[in-house]
Amino acid sequence: MTLHQTPHLTPVPAPGPTPLLSIEDLVVQYRRPGAEPTRAVAGVSLEVRAGEVVGLVGESGCGKSTLARAVCGLTPAKEGTIAFDGTPVTPLRVRRRDPELTRVQMVFQDPYGSLNPRRRVGTQIADGIRTAAGRGEGPDGATPEDFLTRVGLSAGDAGRYPQEFSGGQRQRIAIARALAARPRLLVGDEPISALDASAQSQVATLMRSLAVESGAGLLFISHDLSVVRLIADRIAVMYLGRIVETGPTAEVWANPRHPYTRALLAAIPQPDGAGRLPAELPGDVPDPAAPPSGCRFHPRCPLAFDGCDREDPHLIAGVACRLYTAA
Ligand code: SF4
Repeated sequence: MTLHQTPHLTPVPAPGPTPLLSIEDLVVQYRRPGAEPTRAVAGVSLEVRAGEVVGLVGESGCGKSTLARAVCGLTPAKEGTIAFDGTPVTPLRVRRRDPELTRVQMVFQDPYGSLNPRRRVGTQIADGIRTAAGRGEGPDGATPEDFLTRVGLSAGDAGRYPQEFSGGQRQRIAIARALAARPRLLVGDEPISALDASAQSQVATLMRSLAVESGAGLLFISHDLSVVRLIADRIAVMYLGRIVETGPTAEVWANPRHPYTRALLAAIPQPDGAGRLPAELPGDVPDPAAPPSGCRFHPRCPLAFDGCDREDPHLIAGVACRLYTAA
């Protein structure tokens, strides 16, 4: 399947009343010696429901990966809350590696670095099974070979080492290891960006179907909007530490409202080699340590108008732009 064909995917169950993941006003801050603190995530609210795939998109350096690490308990939050199944996960509990956090499993960008080259893949998947058992779940008889089969590899691969596989196959092994821990939420942090083009859509659609089949949620982080369109039910667009637009993927795709979303969509390469529209996004993402005043996008925004350099728009009805709120 190419990225431009309509996908044939597992239907999504009806969302439950309580979000699986609920992030409110999250701030994640870094400190570098001799420099001002940097707010890589600067007040983000986001939800993921059971059986739902949410695609988080934006340019490099916009804070997507920092947000993912905070959700997985790998980076403490400075402000705001992260609630999992309605239970807040505090920064203190993050440092203690609360067993509840093992219900959130992450698939990293680098399939070469995330697996131990000295251990057989079956042994590494067994780690995931033990993680679930440590929470009192299982054993239900599922073996590493079962998980390898579910990700499209063979049971006999359990005795081999990671370096015997291609990048796409290694990412499948990483997914199998994550699934073995019985996650309620799977977080993919640019899980396809290191893969060749033919493996990208396969791995992305595999993550979607496995997450949905198991009733888990999937937060899929990517700078590749074409792939996110393929697998995500909802899309959230991030710019300089903030969500600037969110909504059902089909709606955002058909009617992007925020000028940044429009520019991202305009820049997507088409099969004939052209962008959808002339690219209209000048410059790079500013330094998050010194974000622009007012609307953070105003220095690059082709539609900026009087007051955009002073007034900071909030996310209202799915968009953070004064075009939709200014009187
Ligand atoms: Fe552009 Fe102003 Fe909207 Fe910001 S608030 S995106 S500068 S129009």
